[in-house]
Amino acid sequence: MNKLRHSFSFFSILLVLMAGCKEKSEPQESKTEEEQLVEKALEIHKRVLTLDTHADTPLRMIEPGFDMAERHNPNETGSKVDYPRMVEGDLDAIFFAAFVAQDIRDDDGNTRAKTLCLQMIDSVIASTQRNADVVGLALNPDDAYALEKEGKRAIYIGIENGYPIGKDLANVELYFNKGVRYITLVHSSNNDLADSATDELGTEHGGISEFGSKVVAEMNRLGIMVDVSHGNDSVFYDAIKMSKAPIIASHSNARSVTKHDRNMTDEMLKLMAENGGVVQLTMLSDYLRMPPPNVALDSATAALKANMKPVEEMTLEERGEMRKAIRSLREKYPAPLATVQHAADHIDHIVKVAGIDHVGIGCDFDGGGGIQGVFDASEVMNITIELVKRGYTEEEIEKIWGGNLIRVFKVVQKVAEEIQSNPS
Ligand SMILES: [Zn+2]
Repeated sequence: MNKLRHSFSFFSILLVLMAGCKEKSEPQESKTEEEQLVEKALEIHKRVLTLDTHADTPLRMIEPGFDMAERHNPNETGSKVDYPRMVEGDLDAIFFAAFVAQDIRDDDGNTRAKTLCLQMIDSVIASTQRNADVVGLALNPDDAYALEKEGKRAIYIGIENGYPIGKDLANVELYFNKGVRYITLVHSSNNDLADSATDELGTEHGGISEFGSKVVAEMNRLGIMVDVSHGNDSVFYDAIKMSKAPIIASHSNARSVTKHDRNMTDEMLKLMAENGGVVQLTMLSDYLRMPPPNVALDSATAALKANMKPVEEMTLEERGEMRKAIRSLREKYPAPLATVQHAADHIDHIVKVAGIDHVGIGCDFDGGGGIQGVFDASEVMNITIELVKRGYTEEEIEKIWGGNLIRVFKVVQKVAEEIQSNPS
């Protein structure tokens, strides 16, 4: 009897629960088109490999006490990437770039740059070892998929700025052996390898220098991707000609959408397609939209420049100070951030000009990247949502979010194998 009563009450509860479920399921049927679309986008975002090719997080990793296993508040700390936020944003893989700012180009400067670069690379490796339950060091294209299957984030290593190579070609192999799989030839100022798109003094080598061409050949031999972001236009054209393997732009946008020297012209985008390479779209406001009028910033910048000597007369240190002062003015008089719609406009354009096989994502978190809606690693799914809203299919989104870059990476390795088996 007791047992019966027990069964009865069990069924009563079940019925109540079922009724509850029905009630709960009703609003599901009346889900708005928008809600259904977001749900679909999030499912796609979960299924595809999401790979971000550019984050300057090693700069944070070498800070004493900075813990990648801890979730940081971006508004308080400025930090945009840590492992908990990669999980939240369902970002499966990332290239952490060891970034060394351009400084004096002599033996002392080169030695300091190399030491700092190795320190950052070692900090990435140590971090993957300390957090082996959530991430893994990735060296080859398929590692990203293997780690994703294990439920872990794939951590790749790149170098932003070829400055730490100094004048010693052997350093390229040293970095490769440490796990480096792309090198951005140059950064904001010219170096011994190549000209920068943003050096106030203009061109120095007319693109890639003679030493730079040897570095490109060595990268081809080893299987390191050649990254032309930050290079001036001639660097792009030289790299296309010199490299035996397809090239990448790890974080660059489309110049005909937003006029900026760091962005790529339509002609470059078309050549990138012919080359089989890929342009990784970056979430930097100034590369995504023309900054809206900002009178306070303009007059403060003009006042600052009026008290400075001409750029040509400045030492490297003084130029660094000037850039820092301009940066702090921008922080004081901020412009509204670009939006995820701006980012998708660039993707639409690159797809139209170069095709769906030649665009990817490289957010530049911890290096200035972060827009409204994609402010840090925890929000990258908003890119997928916008792409789904614009009619991109899962297959196309899979290419954008990682498939294209992995394809290029594989070809780069294959070319290296061929070079090594037929040394000329
Ligand atoms: Zn950069």
